Amino acid sequence: MGGLIERLRAEVAGPVLAPEDAEFAAELAGFNTAVVHSPDVVVGITSEADAGAVVRAAAETGTPVRVLATGHGSATAITGGIVVTTSRLTGVSVDADEQVAHINAGAVWAEVVTAAAEHGLAPVTGASDVVGCIGYTLGGGLGPLARTYGFSSDWARGFRVVTGSGEVVTATATEHPDLFWALRGGKGGFGIVTSMDFALVELTTLYGGSVFFEAEHIAPVLTAWTDWTSKLPETANSSVVILRLPPLEFIPEPLRGKTVLNVRFAYVGDAAEGKRLLQPIRDAGTTLIDAVGEMPAADIALIHNDPKDPTAVFDRGVMLAELNADFIAAFLEAAGPDQQLPLVAVELRHLGGATQRDVPEGSAVGGRGGAGTLVMIGVPDPSLFEQVLPATIDGVLTRLAPWISPEMTVNFAGAFTLPGSYQASWPADTFARLAEVRATYDPEKVFPYGPSVT
Ligand SMILES: Cc1cc2nc3c(=O)[nH]c(=O)nc-3n(C[C@H](O)[C@H](O)[C@H](O)COP(=O)(O)OP(=O)(O)OC[C@H]3O[C@@H](n4cnc5c(N)ncnc54)[C@H](O)[C@@H]3O)c2cc1C
Repeated sequence: MGGLIERLRAEVAGPVLAPEDAEFAAELAGFNTAVVHSPDVVVGITSEADAGAVVRAAAETGTPVRVLATGHGSATAITGGIVVTTSRLTGVSVDADEQVAHINAGAVWAEVVTAAAEHGLAPVTGASDVVGCIGYTLGGGLGPLARTYGFSSDWARGFRVVTGSGEVVTATATEHPDLFWALRGGKGGFGIVTSMDFALVELTTLYGGSVFFEAEHIAPVLTAWTDWTSKLPETANSSVVILRLPPLEFIPEPLRGKTVLNVRFAYVGDAAEGKRLLQPIRDAGTTLIDAVGEMPAADIALIHNDPKDPTAVFDRGVMLAELNADFIAAFLEAAGPDQQLPLVAVELRHLGGATQRDVPEGSAVGGRGGAGTLVMIGVPDPSLFEQVLPATIDGVLTRLAPWISPEMTVNFAGAFTLPGSYQASWPADTFARLAEVRATYDPEKVFPYGPSVT
């Protein structure tokens, strides 16, 4: 390893850190504080040339390379090999005429949202604006506007990739279209993506936000929500989350220490029509907080209000084949407010509309058939991560088994910590085709990916 580290230090402009270096741990720290990576070396790349030098050295020495951006997707610790960090590859630029953002590998969604908003444009992002754009889009990406605009990867227009041979390749619908197909939802194991071109939509305002209900209103509101979502147009997006909130200072007073239901809404169109569409939910229970209204599209991250600061994370997600009244009844029995569960959040997202339509040239994204997603997030106490939370989540999933789709989507698969979720993240033919593309662009398996690839 000493020889490899010396070579990397000679060839790479960015920091090359070994475990004994003071900055090693900080370089590897990410969103999930419960996961501590221990590679042999971490390299903070500063350019495509750095990425190429790392890959060539790795290929020649048979050393595996893994990529780390923000750490939002890190559910399992990396041991051994090289970790490449992308945080120094900063920068986002917008071509307003073409309505495309050029996004470097270290960028997070907030940067793209801000740059696009200056031109009356918006990216189709995820719920949280501190998630990395590339890691998110490689997994497809389902955000608060998914029913209207589809998976975020549908908006990717091209990627620059340092492949397993150290070659720099541009993948678009016309150049290396097999790789382009794979990168739109196929996630990892193809190379280091150094930048992405991403089409923007014309969008300045939304009618959206969050409505909160007390525990006693959860059952009637959820029942109304299920019926209501089945009639919504594609321009209307909604998700719900049962929050079991701790009695801590940072939680707004009306919610502190309570079990509540948060209904999120995002309507792309006229505010009066959005208000009319939301009315049945407002009428379904007494609202504790009602923060839905006309809002700048650039404030999209406020709809989910996901935590931004690093925390210990244990979560599991699945896709749902159906979101109907029988499901909600079983859901309330398994995870409703009467259950004492060590879960801070149990979330359902309503899908359909544009999420079910592939792009004309096809893409690798899995989960197009899903009617919704179910995600459970545990109490952020690592002492519960080994046994208590897996058992709790397994219990809920067992009771909801009839509605769980055999189909998954990789960004919700919790880095494959749920048994079978790797294979289930893509239809069988897509899974096989992804393996072929990996064999083409990473024949030496420099980029290990998924539990079956070592
Ligand atoms: C709070 C929170 C909110 C979320 N919200 C959503 C949501 O609304 N919708 C959704 O679809 N997902 C969501 N996710 C999941 C998230 O999209 C994935 O975890 C995603 O992988 C995060 O990417 P990252 O680059 O930020 O994280 P990282 O953990 O740094 O990277 C994850 C993986 O992406 C790959 N990767 C990252 N950068 C590169 C690169 N430059 N080249 C090659 N591979 C790369 C690597 O395989 C890496 O293992 C959320 C996660 C969290 C924790």
